[in-house]
Amino acid sequence: MATKKDYYEILGVDRNATQDEIKKAYRKLAVKYHPDKNQGNKEAEEKFKELAEAYAVLSDPEKRRRYDQFGHAGVGGAGQQGFDFTDFDLADALRQFMEEGFGFGFGDIFGSSRSGSRRRRVTRKGSDLQIKLKLTLEEIATGVTKKIKVRKKIACPECNGSGSAKYSKTVMCPVCHGSGEIRQVSRSLFGQFVNVTTCHRCNGEGQVIENPCHSCHGTGLIDGSKTIEVNVPAGVSTGNYITLSGEGNAGVRGGQPGDLIIYIEEAPHQIFQRQGNDILLALPISFPTAALGGTVEVPTLTGKAKLKIAPGTQSGKILRMRGKGIPYLRSAGSGDQLVQVQVYVPTKLNEEERLLLQKLAESENLDPSKSTHKSFFDKFKEAFKI
Ligand SMILES: [Zn+2]
Ligand SMILES: [Zn+2]
Repeated sequence: MATKKDYYEILGVDRNATQDEIKKAYRKLAVKYHPDKNQGNKEAEEKFKELAEAYAVLSDPEKRRRYDQFGHAGVGGAGQQGFDFTDFDLADALRQFMEEGFGFGFGDIFGSSRSGSRRRRVTRKGSDLQIKLKLTLEEIATGVTKKIKVRKKIACPECNGSGSAKYSKTVMCPVCHGSGEIRQVSRSLFGQFVNVTTCHRCNGEGQVIENPCHSCHGTGLIDGSKTIEVNVPAGVSTGNYITLSGEGNAGVRGGQPGDLIIYIEEAPHQIFQRQGNDILLALPISFPTAALGGTVEVPTLTGKAKLKIAPGTQSGKILRMRGKGIPYLRSAGSGDQLVQVQVYVPTKLNEEERLLLQKLAESENLDPSKSTHKSFFDKFKEAFKI
């Protein structure tokens, strides 16, 4: 074995350094010499591997004790007290870096300059989820807090979202040999073309997991669900949507989760009809009420309200109940409830009612053709020249 540099020297810490100091020193230097930042730089790669090895020993109290006592012989593969601990290769070093949690949120460490298909994507943002939320007009009128169970991809608990079985290594992709892309050269009459595609085996990451986790088949994600609470303001309508950031599918290997987008859908109502922020309602009233006037009870989206019927109210007349409609989503106030009066005609009569109505029928005032009031019937006569 070639003479090795002192592990403390490699990390630039003194022999009494705390675990925290060792970790900080490793993180700082490993980021500096990470192969993603130093592409094609052999020296940096060697340095990165050295750092990983030094850190693996010094961050483990037992290995550190042996190293302090016996030097490299205490931890190397050569001595009989060794830990089966040979030189780190690049895959080992990258895995070490990942396992320390430093691989998560790579974008933060390296800034946003990681563009281009040649760079490895170690983490990936989760995809957005879209769901529909059906609401009744009553819920829309008041606003509502809904609990929804959302089925989505969550991080695999078996492998902590890494996709890798316990003690499995990340190895260089055998298809693209770590480049993450496949180049195909084709010749034609017009010359030579190079066709570059993302490697299908590693999805452009350049690395694959040697033994994928059996629960998630190496994807790091499994099907799961979460119950979330969503506050819907009053006045929404079909087509409006609410975005809950971070509530979508989990990210790959610690990547940011996607968003959850909730589309509002209005359920049809048995008696009410919505027209913008106004509510339409057909209301049957009795002939005596229409003729004599009175007060009736009217259903609204928030309960019941009283409505005054003027004497002589005609069937089909629309009465406006101000502010009893749906609140405006982006301003103060509400629409109205529009009540269309319909005079109710009973389909069955008892003997007494029949006699009373027959008596009423004799009154000329009740006969529209003889009424002095210019009514619909007069217009009807004029139009058809009866
Ligand atoms: Zn798994
Ligand atoms: Zn590949």
